[in-house]
Amino acid sequence: TTRLLELRGLSVAYLTERGRVPACSDINLTINRGEIIGVAGESASGKSTLLTAITRLQRIPAVTVGGQVLYHGSRAATPVDLVELEEPELAGLRWSEISVVMQSAMACLNPVLRLRAQFADVLKVKNPRLGKAELRQRIAALLAMVGIAPDYMNHYPHQLSGGMQQRSLIALAMACDPELVVMDEPTTAVDVVMQRRILNQVLRLQRRLGFAVIFVTHDLSLLLEIADRIAIMYGGRIVEVGTAERVYRRPRHPYTRGLRDSFPPLTEPVRRLTGIAGTPPNLLQLPAGCAFQPRCRLRIDRCADVRPELTELGDGSVACHVAVDDPEERS
Ligand code: ATP
Ligand code: MG
Repeated sequence: TTRLLELRGLSVAYLTERGRVPACSDINLTINRGEIIGVAGESASGKSTLLTAITRLQRIPAVTVGGQVLYHGSRAATPVDLVELEEPELAGLRWSEISVVMQSAMACLNPVLRLRAQFADVLKVKNPRLGKAELRQRIAALLAMVGIAPDYMNHYPHQLSGGMQQRSLIALAMACDPELVVMDEPTTAVDVVMQRRILNQVLRLQRRLGFAVIFVTHDLSLLLEIADRIAIMYGGRIVEVGTAERVYRRPRHPYTRGLRDSFPPLTEPVRRLTGIAGTPPNLLQLPAGCAFQPRCRLRIDRCADVRPELTELGDGSVACHVAVDDPEERS
């Protein structure tokens, strides 16, 4: 396996009137070529902030306050730091190397352009000389991949259902055969059944085209089905990372376990849904030690004072003072 993207100490803050909101802190994560990485965590844990920082789609008041996002492109010999990249170079990577499917499809689609014009713009990034007939053919093929009839290319985004908007955005993301597709779970636009159908389409394409995926969701059980590795976020930090099987079946962080037990797996007998007591941390007043400590049933004194670093343990990494390699033995 070869590295595609390396997040090194990435930190992002929202500079607001109430103060500085540290939405992502010291994120370290490597994504390999062709790998599917899932990122899970409760609402406000920093998942979308992380994706927008990686792809440089963040808007004021979000500011990347530290770290690097090293991208090992297929063409360049040395990696580029996406954090430092100027807009023209960034534009050269968008769609052709790195594509984005954000939480709200409508936010990514241009409301005043018919689908065919948006697809033509993206296809021309990599291939400026495509003729009209050829464009039409390519667009029809892309739409077909996500189960949309060719006639829809003449529609405006608002004329499509939420699910179709999301699927056309996925087709658009695939248009230039990218190395990396970054996806935020669609929320309001589509129901759970549609979300799975969309995901299955993405996976089929992924197997065919071999791009890497970073997929963000609340639902850990979903990641067990699709991801190679899973990273768990809490309070703007990665608290556990490892293979999907490992993180889901034998979570070492008490938060990971709580998150897992908050969602009913579709394909397995229903575990008792315990959820996690308490509320997510207030990022403006994070506790000194572990951010999860006020909600944690396993906490020890040290947890209130010393923030646990993400540390290798067995075949993954975890940020917890009481983590043991095989937690099932403890309970
Ligand atoms: P969800 O699952 O609900 O999409 P998330 O994990 O994607 O949540 P983010 O949207 O990344 O979370 O938000 C992380 C933190 O940053 C939250 O505490 C949120 O309140 C804060 N935040 C997000 N956008 C802004 C903003 N524009 N100004 C100030 N704070 C913000
Ligand atoms: Mg989000």
